[in-house]
Amino acid sequence: MATPESAVQDYDVVISGAGLAGSAAAILLARRGARVALLERRSDPEAYKVLCTHSLTACAYPVLDELGLIPALEKAGAVRNAARWHTRWGWIEPRSAPAGPELPYGYNIRRSTLDPLIRSHAAQTPGVDLLLGHQVTGLVRDAGRTVGVRASSPQGEREIRARLVVGADGKDSAVAKLAEVPARRYENGRFGYLAHFRDLPLPGGVSHAWFLEPDMAYAFPNDDGVTVLAVLPDKKRLPAFREDLEGSFAAFVRALPEAPPIDAAERITKITGMVDYPLHTRKPTAPGIALIGDAALTGDPLWGVGCGWALQSAHWLTEATAAAATGRGDLDRSLALYARRHRRRLTGHQLLAVDFARSRPFNPVERLMFSAATLDASLARHMHLFGSRLIGPLRFLNPLALAKASVVNIKHLRATAPPTRS
Ligand SMILES: Cc1cc2nc3c(=O)[nH]c(=O)nc-3n(C[C@H](O)[C@H](O)[C@H](O)COP(=O)(O)OP(=O)(O)OC[C@H]3O[C@@H](n4cnc5c(N)ncnc54)[C@H](O)[C@@H]3O)c2cc1C
Repeated sequence: MATPESAVQDYDVVISGAGLAGSAAAILLARRGARVALLERRSDPEAYKVLCTHSLTACAYPVLDELGLIPALEKAGAVRNAARWHTRWGWIEPRSAPAGPELPYGYNIRRSTLDPLIRSHAAQTPGVDLLLGHQVTGLVRDAGRTVGVRASSPQGEREIRARLVVGADGKDSAVAKLAEVPARRYENGRFGYLAHFRDLPLPGGVSHAWFLEPDMAYAFPNDDGVTVLAVLPDKKRLPAFREDLEGSFAAFVRALPEAPPIDAAERITKITGMVDYPLHTRKPTAPGIALIGDAALTGDPLWGVGCGWALQSAHWLTEATAAAATGRGDLDRSLALYARRHRRRLTGHQLLAVDFARSRPFNPVERLMFSAATLDASLARHMHLFGSRLIGPLRFLNPLALAKASVVNIKHLRATAPPTRS
């Protein structure tokens, strides 16, 4: 259904939240002709999300490219993110095939660099009005659909009407809550702490992840020579860990296989973290409303995928709704298209993440795939494509890949078995 002609619109689209998802959606929708109000509750244009380890997986690359941000990211020192993963069977080290194409990559870039960059890009895009210090506090409704927002601003309360209201306001989305969008919440069995370091070299200069079953850790080299280190232990360890946060963090890192040498490095931030970080899945649309980024789906930080999905969902929303949002199509049908794409692309990933968030050791299928990927270069590349979210769970666990992993493991067992006595 199109918005009634009688309704007065200040904008075509009003977006709550000028983080990654909101800024990307504003740029992409405005380029397709929409008049966009981009509301951000914080007044500082340099504000950024502190609780993030900011490794943007390769699925983010095409959107960053479309946004025109790649040259600016490279200039700002963003690090192309190759990685190695430690498992109990050894390291998985994805490399491009000899004479094959380069492995797809994303970027490690601090949010203090990335958030102001994308927000200022949005502010400079013709058709976008960035309204800082505007916090969405209510929705404007007409005949059962949302037709705008109410916001507190430095000038007082404001009402802003638009055909489409977008909630890009993070995991505690005000838009989703005000619209009472159905949501599911899943417990996370791990807690996490992170800190930034200088002079902390990593082998090969690449990102590291440690799968310690059930604990996790990772280390990412970033712009300006800063390395971010994160530990994600099982929640059972939390009371003891908190008794001496600094000591526990350092001890955890020192005990990692091929541990980063933190004692010789300089810690340049506090150790910050989260003791309870549930996963959320929300219905991504309601009449007159779309949710993108964490507002629609908050994954487990462990997998480092939320930034990529924030950018991708902004792109999917734009493709589905740009025409209708500018009065050239049926908005409800466009929103249904967006919802379908969102579900198709992310539900499988989220279900796996929800299960792994129970802080359990690897299940038999994971044991099969992870162990084989330590031995076989093509399976390591396959693992990289899945970790980068360039393929979904069904392709990752396709029968050919499972068969190949089984053969690799059987051959390895035979080759390493002690000789039988005759
Ligand atoms: C510890 C941790 C580590 C992580 N590490 C990674 C990683 O390595 N890689 C990765 O890809 N992802 C990671 N993530 C996830 C990632 O941080 C999020 O998925 C991503 O920030 C989502 O972007 P977003 O734009 O949807 O939301 P946000 O970045 O949260 O932006 C929301 C914006 O909305 C604004 N806002 C909120 N409420 C209102 C309101 N009422 N009115 C107006 N504005 C409002 C906020 O101020 C903010 O600017 C991590 C998360 C955590 C917790």
